[in-house]
Amino acid sequence: MRIVIKFGTNVIASPEGTINKPRLLEMVRQIATLHREGHQVALVSSGAIFVGRQNAPALPQRKDIPFKQMLAAIGQVKLLNIYERLFDIYGITIAQALLTRSDLSNRARYLNARNTFNLLLDTHAIPVVNENDVVGVEEIKIGDNDNLSALVANLIDADRLIILTDQRGLFTADPRHNADAELIAEVSAITDDIHALAGGTDSEMGVGGMSTKIQAAQLATRSGVETIIASGHEPDVLVRLVLHNESLGTRFPAKISHVESRKRWILAEPVAGTVVVDTGAAKAVTRGNRSLLPAGISAVRGDFPRGATVAIVDEQGKKRGRGIANYKSADIAAISGRQSDEIETILGYNYGDTVIHRDNLVVI
Ligand code: GLU
Repeated sequence: MRIVIKFGTNVIASPEGTINKPRLLEMVRQIATLHREGHQVALVSSGAIFVGRQNAPALPQRKDIPFKQMLAAIGQVKLLNIYERLFDIYGITIAQALLTRSDLSNRARYLNARNTFNLLLDTHAIPVVNENDVVGVEEIKIGDNDNLSALVANLIDADRLIILTDQRGLFTADPRHNADAELIAEVSAITDDIHALAGGTDSEMGVGGMSTKIQAAQLATRSGVETIIASGHEPDVLVRLVLHNESLGTRFPAKISHVESRKRWILAEPVAGTVVVDTGAAKAVTRGNRSLLPAGISAVRGDFPRGATVAIVDEQGKKRGRGIANYKSADIAAISGRQSDEIETILGYNYGDTVIHRDNLVVI
């Protein structure tokens, strides 16, 4: 299983306001257990600003954005340093990935990030993700790591997103003020009432509260990712959730499959150009559910970048499908009709063997 695990600042911090290293070690131990069982894990960890603040105690505290960005820059190194030492105990390699909204909304960057994450996960490294707070001013930032974790889950086609916080999940009322509040074990539809329940429960640390977690669950479940909000203070929470399938916290079942969600997305996109394919490729794509290789392409129309959505038509002009181009139009023109192993020689670089990968292709 592919799992995205998100730690809020309240999982990383102790009540005394220091980094809770014993808890982090405990979390890392559990992730190592999942890893040993063959699960692929990406970690989204908040806490850079918190750790930065701890390490710059002599500075007069300010609240402005540049100051927080500076704290994040200082804290991110220290935070990753701690993760590196803890994962090293279990012989696990970690990798840092700092993302902003534009990295995930721009097509070419999205594809690039996706390739990098896929490779990291396949080689069993653990990407440790945070928002790139150093450049993340208002216009381009995602703003909270709950939404970021949902975007990462979508990016890597995760099976599950586990958001760990200091609450046991979503309650029927705010449990801090209402003794009758009950934990909701499963939310099958994220309605306005659910959003309303989550409102006004902002956490004291970090950025998000329950409401950004519900937004994240909505985003993730719509792209095929089951989401669980649970407490990071619960003993053995990750092992119990993943290996024992225990019911802990609040579960949001996925609404559709990854493939379905990607296909809907491709169909909703405006088309930026056309690739014309020969009879063999048309058959392979429509009947064989195969990727489109340069060898099967006879022409390309339009001027589009890598990552654009393009129409696939056969030589008679009949529409066969639609997909996300792995190369820009000029590159496709240069490699069309050629073998995939010639791509590197012709272009001087390569983004893989396919012009449109079958995961990014919808047959019409
Ligand atoms: N990126 C911020 C940090 O690492 C945290 C954002 C959040 O708490 O959601 O400090």
